[in-house]
Amino acid sequence: MSVQLYLNDVHRSFDGFKAINGLSLAIDKGELRAVIGPNGAGKTTMMDIITGKTRPDTGEVFWNGTVDLTKVDEAGSARLGIGRKFQKPTVIESLTVEENIAISLKDDRSVFGTLLNRQSAEQAGRVTELLDLVRLTADRRRSAADLSHGQKQWLEIGMLLAQEPELLLVDEPAAGMTDDETMRTAELLRSLAGSHTVVVVEHDMEFVRALDCKVTVLHQGAVLAEGSLDHVSANPQVVEVYLGR
Ligand code: ADP
Repeated sequence: MSVQLYLNDVHRSFDGFKAINGLSLAIDKGELRAVIGPNGAGKTTMMDIITGKTRPDTGEVFWNGTVDLTKVDEAGSARLGIGRKFQKPTVIESLTVEENIAISLKDDRSVFGTLLNRQSAEQAGRVTELLDLVRLTADRRRSAADLSHGQKQWLEIGMLLAQEPELLLVDEPAAGMTDDETMRTAELLRSLAGSHTVVVVEHDMEFVRALDCKVTVLHQGAVLAEGSLDHVSANPQVVEVYLGR
């Protein structure tokens, strides 16, 4: 398997505070990876660096082996195929579920097509496919405002997938979800791995267990432990800084 995302000895300080302090990470193409760590561990800053929102002070960040992500801004990283889902859903509540997907399709003519109710058969097929993937087919004509919190999160994942990213960075998708929604979300993200690289930043341990993937524990801006959840959970330092809290 080839490495899709590579961070080597990355540093980033804010007013002398080392938010990222020697972070090295390699994520394979098609991998599902959970990144956990206590508040302030540097998870958000890590995602900001990967997406070009923040530039590292020093260190390497490479995409697909050769593309230097330290030189790429947010729009550029999206064009490269890096998709980010923030914690709070930002679906357009005045539109239906399927319209939200349709306006997000990569081909930007679809915005006008959707608004004029004139979509190509190809676009309509893609919308159907994405609705199915995020399990919202039965709700496609409902207003996005009427969805549950969990369904809004899935819709937003569908909107992100409509942009055809290679990598999805997903920030605490299970926050505020019911147990059932949490498990369904884990299932959805697992189903995306393979065809996509998926990095999930998460606090909820039950959710991380359900993801059933390699886990990276961040602490003070660097990797403290890496491996299966059972492996990292058995690490006394991890217990001390995170799991034992
Ligand atoms: P996490 O997402 O793991 O909670 P963050 O990456 O948000 O951690 O933050 C790491 C540390 O860096 C925090 O102590 C935070 O206050 C600090 N930090 C992050 N971004 C900024 C910023 N733009 N300006 C100043 N300090 C920041």
